[in-house]
Amino acid sequence: MHRQSDDQTVDLLPPGPWPLPPQYLTSAADINAYTSAVEVFVTDLCQLQPHRTALLQILIQIQFKFGWIPIEAIAVISEELSLASGEIRAVLEFYSFLSSKFQGQYRVFLSSNITDFHQGQQSVLDTLCSELNIDLGNPDCNGLVSIALTSCTGLCDQGPAALINGHPIVRLDKPRAKQIAALIKTQQPFDQWPQDWSHISSQLEVTGPLLRETIAPGDALSKWLGKNIDNFLDELEKSGLRGRGGAGFNTYQKLWAACRNAPGDCHYVVCNADEGEPGTFKDRVLLQDHYDRVIEGMTLAAWVLGAESGFLYLRAEYAYLLPMLNNALQQRRQTGWLGNNIGGSDDFNFDIEIHLGAGAYVCGEETSLIESLEGKRGIPRIRPPFPVQSGYLQQPTLVNNVETFACVSAIAISGGESFAALGTEQSTGTKLHSISGDCNKPGIYEIPWGISIEEVLKLCDGTDAAAVQIGGPSGSLLGRDQFQRQLAFEDIPSGGSFMVFGKNRDPIEIVTNFIRFFAHESCGFCTPCRAGCQQLNSFCDKLDQHNLSPSALTTIKQLGELMITTSHCGLGKTAPLALLALLEQWPSLVKERMQRENAPLFDLQQALVQTATLRGDQ
Ligand code: SF4
Repeated sequence: MHRQSDDQTVDLLPPGPWPLPPQYLTSAADINAYTSAVEVFVTDLCQLQPHRTALLQILIQIQFKFGWIPIEAIAVISEELSLASGEIRAVLEFYSFLSSKFQGQYRVFLSSNITDFHQGQQSVLDTLCSELNIDLGNPDCNGLVSIALTSCTGLCDQGPAALINGHPIVRLDKPRAKQIAALIKTQQPFDQWPQDWSHISSQLEVTGPLLRETIAPGDALSKWLGKNIDNFLDELEKSGLRGRGGAGFNTYQKLWAACRNAPGDCHYVVCNADEGEPGTFKDRVLLQDHYDRVIEGMTLAAWVLGAESGFLYLRAEYAYLLPMLNNALQQRRQTGWLGNNIGGSDDFNFDIEIHLGAGAYVCGEETSLIESLEGKRGIPRIRPPFPVQSGYLQQPTLVNNVETFACVSAIAISGGESFAALGTEQSTGTKLHSISGDCNKPGIYEIPWGISIEEVLKLCDGTDAAAVQIGGPSGSLLGRDQFQRQLAFEDIPSGGSFMVFGKNRDPIEIVTNFIRFFAHESCGFCTPCRAGCQQLNSFCDKLDQHNLSPSALTTIKQLGELMITTSHCGLGKTAPLALLALLEQWPSLVKERMQRENAPLFDLQQALVQTATLRGDQ
């Protein structure tokens, strides 16, 4: 059984700037001290977790400790875990938050999500670069700081936002960017930074059965432990609960019952807290304010499946939640609601480990997530077999979203019928929506399924919207003529992202942002997605530059269809959707953009610039 020691409750985030590594040091004593510190730290980590599955977690802890993965660390891991250095490097290179090069004592990741961009991210970026005298993506020559873009920090309701050495900074603007630059230049530790910059409010705008009140440890479990598991499963079936991650599988039938019946040496429970879909931040709020609902749901799953081990896979962007979550787990152990003999039972033992991701959107896909849990690159597996049959370490594994587990605890307390009384026939219960963008009340909305987009826009005061993106870049881009449609699995499903775009926003710019995101996040495993995303990215850039040939529209549609039908996982299958929607719903805008200027179909000057950039000439 997995057990967490108290020392894992330590905050991973560094209290100040990272120390300069040997390449910036001149004294032999300083160089030796640094190298020795790395070797001691990594040796201790490996000896605490002496197994292959710990590789990614070890790399993440080194990254947080030193700001990069020094070569000496790779040598120690290789020796201690008997792994080839090439295998370690392959994992290291896969995750965008890990780095084999030192990126500066301060590493700034600015969110490149479209709503952050609309809220002034470019001005923040320009100010930081100019005040710190650096270029985007290039650390300064003294090793002080680097600035990079990252897909989405899960803070779109209070953006523009950034992570600096993992510390979240919200509500950025030009004056704040200047202050940040000054603090970095004088190397101030983070406890000297204004605390309100990192204050993340929950922004609850509409609450329902899940968010209205918190529950205490044991509130759901105590109703069922010692009773018949089949009766509990009856309640789950009656509830009609469908997975809240986006795909909407029937939780009882496709997952819990299937996993329970799957043969294996042991079963595992996994909570997918890798909410990487840009524009989604509802799991952040559930984990921050309602973690007992989530943990209780996971523990009920373990009771049903007979599982003794569970994992909560937390996206790296939420590393700041780790101490609080580990404390919550520790308190539950101390009060008998986690660990051995849960709730005073004789034979129910279950514990949860928190694993961090490291900046890979594709790990939100359940088989990629399992690969990542096993310490590997997050390449999606070939299915079947499905995780409920063969998941973590080839054992039956139940993977559910944070919100799904929270719903399970609500069903355990109030019953399946009460849950199903809200929503629609095929989409029961409430859904948490993360609303951001051009509305006056961004935040979290818990609303019964079946509500129309128009009604949601009234609630968030975004009635001037010209378009919305439901379900993030992989979801649906809808113009005003579709605002009567319903949020429900039978019409417009959603994992929880609801982005509002006002009439002054450029749909082409929005879609270009989405395609760029997919091109960055494609894991490269299969050709349709790897090559297709790059090609779509290039088409979007040309469209943006008024340089797209009319004949390219047919190619885009054919390529999009090819990606949808032949990509290996959901990322490639959904990547073209927003662009295809743009062509279908805004044809005159697209046409106008292509024809506005009489640009040559091949821009030699631009091609030369791109070639020079690729060669590293500039
Ligand atoms: Fe990787 Fe994209 Fe293929 Fe998925 S579709 S396996 S993300 S290359």
